[in-house]
Amino acid sequence: MGSWSTALVLLLVGVTVVYTTPLVNEKQPGQEWPKRGAVLQPSDDKDTETEPETIFEEKSEEEAILDEIPVKTIEDSSEPVKEKQDLDNTDNEVDTIKTKTVVIKSETASPKVDYSGAQLWKVSIEKEGSRNILVRLRRRNQIATWGTNGTAIDVFIKSDSIQNVTRALNKENIPFEVVIEDLQKRIDEENPPLDENEAELQDRRGHRMNWKQYHRLEDIDGFLDYLSKTYPATVSVNAIGKSHEGRELKVLRISNGNPSNKAIFIDGGIHAREWISPATVTYIINQFAENFDGESEDIRKLDWYFLPVMNPDGYEYTHLNDRLWRKNRRPGIAGRGCSGVDLNRNFGYRWGGKGTSSSPCSEIYRGPRAFSEPESRAVYEFFEKSAANYVAYVTYHSYGQYILYPWGYENAVPPDHDDLQSVGDKMASVIQSTGGDYYSVGSSSKLLYPAAGGSDDWAKSQGIKYTYTIELNDKGRYGFVLPTTYIENVAKESLAALRVLAAQVNKE
Ligand SMILES: [Zn+2]
Repeated sequence: MGSWSTALVLLLVGVTVVYTTPLVNEKQPGQEWPKRGAVLQPSDDKDTETEPETIFEEKSEEEAILDEIPVKTIEDSSEPVKEKQDLDNTDNEVDTIKTKTVVIKSETASPKVDYSGAQLWKVSIEKEGSRNILVRLRRRNQIATWGTNGTAIDVFIKSDSIQNVTRALNKENIPFEVVIEDLQKRIDEENPPLDENEAELQDRRGHRMNWKQYHRLEDIDGFLDYLSKTYPATVSVNAIGKSHEGRELKVLRISNGNPSNKAIFIDGGIHAREWISPATVTYIINQFAENFDGESEDIRKLDWYFLPVMNPDGYEYTHLNDRLWRKNRRPGIAGRGCSGVDLNRNFGYRWGGKGTSSSPCSEIYRGPRAFSEPESRAVYEFFEKSAANYVAYVTYHSYGQYILYPWGYENAVPPDHDDLQSVGDKMASVIQSTGGDYYSVGSSSKLLYPAAGGSDDWAKSQGIKYTYTIELNDKGRYGFVLPTTYIENVAKESLAALRVLAAQVNKE
């Protein structure tokens, strides 16, 4: 473990065996993606074959309260009620509520999950013991925890749990504030349809993307294809694999074709409901691809790889079935019904450690083994075959406004953490001067909570120096249901931060 310096050596060796990808027909300079033979990554065997249950402990409930655990979705209600002896005198009510829960299967044809009457609260955790109360409520599926600012936790509550949770918090004098009165109303208002003029403009443009709306996958994929057709000298697209349900995982590259370029890999949409993430990544793609010749030297000197939607099945599912779905769409175990793996717990560095779950019903289910999912596996195999000289990896999530660097698996930092911190600080300050938003910078385990199996830890373990997880807006006013009016400002800020990163890697 931890031999990412070895990985760096292998990566550099790999760069020397560049050959042309057979996937590309027209050999324009910008379309040749450097590839190498399959080079075994250090600790592959170990990470993919280890049976975690025998080695790693489940994260304690106390630690787990800060996880992005969220919505116990309706299909999760088949999870048995645990630890009867822990329940206090509200038990009866809890059971009553559980029996009323409607079980909805996860097929795409199933009706939409309705969040009418569900609320988002900010619950203070400054009083001693308040976290334990929240842990207990969450264990009984009364709440889900979304985000935190250190002094309060954003708590999601289904409509039929509101009475119980109110009583539990009042009883302990724990202060809370209702932030969203009716989540379904927010969901309905979040992504309004375009007016006719705008729709007509889209057709004339050759693609349907804009940054005034959250788009379906078809629009995003169409946009990537449009760019590669329109700018064949600099833009190219390859599918690096397929999702569980057979959707292509499209990576777009922007490059001037110079083989000595350094490379940056950027992804979005690992978590399905974080819609601002693919919106931001596609915004950045648009800026670079449509105006490559006019871009700064720093941008033009780099090879840019973008995977805007790493979890396309989940993304579509949030549009069609459940706006608050987080995981991918791995089918559930027969008879149990809990589907989906948290792709950001499925990557193969220190897989199975803290902040992950072995239960398929959990929102942080890590999967049966590292890279068990076609989506994360495709990314792994892409890196394994790519001979590009990656110097930075950026993955966009939401929410909370954080610039995070490894490690995530443990409260520890890599040896070059000073560099990561100082570049992160520069990015944060340019964000603030661009659009006014404040981002905190630090290692993810320290600033948030430990969570193993993240894509960022894995990228860092492969020797990619500047590895960041960026948690986009907001800080809990809308949470995951960020209105479209925010998209352009959020994306503009992130673009400004990326320019800082580009300048930095070119300097080194
Ligand atoms: Zn996320």
